[in-house]
Amino acid sequence: MLKPLVKIDIVMAELAALARISEGEPPVVTRVVFSDADLRARQYVKQLCSAARLSIREDAVGNTFVRWEGSESGLAPVATGSHIDAIPNAGAYDGTVGVLGGLEAIRSLQRAGFQPRRSIELILFTSEEPTRFGIGCLGSRMMGGVLSADRARQLRDKQERSLDDLRSSAGFAGGLESVRLGSDTYHAFIELHIEQGPLLERSGTDLGVVTHIAAPASLRVKIEGEGGHAGAMLMPDRHDALAAAAELILALESAAKSTGAIDTVATVGVCEVFPGAVNSVPSQVVLEIDVRDTDAGRRDSVLTSLKRSAAATEGSRGVCISFETVNADPPATCDPRLVEIVEASAAAAGVSSCRMVSRAYHDSLFLARLAPVTMIFIPCRAGVSHRPDEFAEPAAIERGVEVLARTLQTLSR
Ligand SMILES: [Zn+2]
Repeated sequence: MLKPLVKIDIVMAELAALARISEGEPPVVTRVVFSDADLRARQYVKQLCSAARLSIREDAVGNTFVRWEGSESGLAPVATGSHIDAIPNAGAYDGTVGVLGGLEAIRSLQRAGFQPRRSIELILFTSEEPTRFGIGCLGSRMMGGVLSADRARQLRDKQERSLDDLRSSAGFAGGLESVRLGSDTYHAFIELHIEQGPLLERSGTDLGVVTHIAAPASLRVKIEGEGGHAGAMLMPDRHDALAAAAELILALESAAKSTGAIDTVATVGVCEVFPGAVNSVPSQVVLEIDVRDTDAGRRDSVLTSLKRSAAATEGSRGVCISFETVNADPPATCDPRLVEIVEASAAAAGVSSCRMVSRAYHDSLFLARLAPVTMIFIPCRAGVSHRPDEFAEPAAIERGVEVLARTLQTLSR
């Protein structure tokens, strides 16, 4: 086994340069997919990849595949990667550590004189964040066949511009059907990512090896009641949509707590009230609900219980409640053999590791439809993410890159 020669100063300088390509003023990073900043950031990363003598292919939706050719071109490649799009007002490390860290893992093996037998691919996924089209992991979802080309063509952003139109203007051509990949495309996929939670830092562990990725479901709930004048409409006559929504929110919280599992989480992050005036009884409320669990059955039991509560609220309050499922994805179980290889790579690098669950979802959730996957988590300060003060120590990134490089080396020999 060759020791990868990681140059962390280069990675940190590249992360800083990438962070400056933003729609916001530093330290704010905002890079919404297919925005000018996203396209410039892609250009920057591709330049770095070309400089490392790697070949680049882009698919119809902008997923970018950077390849270090192995000596046996018939073998399925080993892949790594992540995303560079960022939600509004985000930080410099989410996703980017997996892209620039993945590139550095390849370069560190090149410097060490390693020659892969299987090709090694770095993938930059389009639109991991749901900001523009309301659905996360757009690129990997399409690669894994979870989002069909037909459904993708129906996606619109808030300005009513279609995905098809936006990706064409961004220069990505070809039929959207061609984005889907076969299940024999990759030998393995490993994503390096910041933890986005506090557990590694709290326990003083260098690195987390992910065994499960939680199954996310998101729903839009519409509650229709009856509006009226806040002074004139008498209490016995009311069908207040917001009061009904309040019952539903508390019912969801209690359903999630009652599973008794620490991995069940449920959130109402959006509550839109119509007409939204202080002197008007709310006639309509739209809630957006996010429920996740490592066990899809347990997650679905929370949703079933919520719908039972909704039926009871309809009866008692005379309102009408409808549910729309935005997505309900199955969880992913990481490949036990890959988990062991990452653990062995960590041990060889003198890096402490522990097994953990990813409660956030990542492109790996959808790559799991195509290939054995696992993820490498590195600590980030106070678990903070999706904020401008998101931060990962250079030493933590260096350890993550070295362990990724060792893992890629083992898998591509
Ligand atoms: Zn991410």
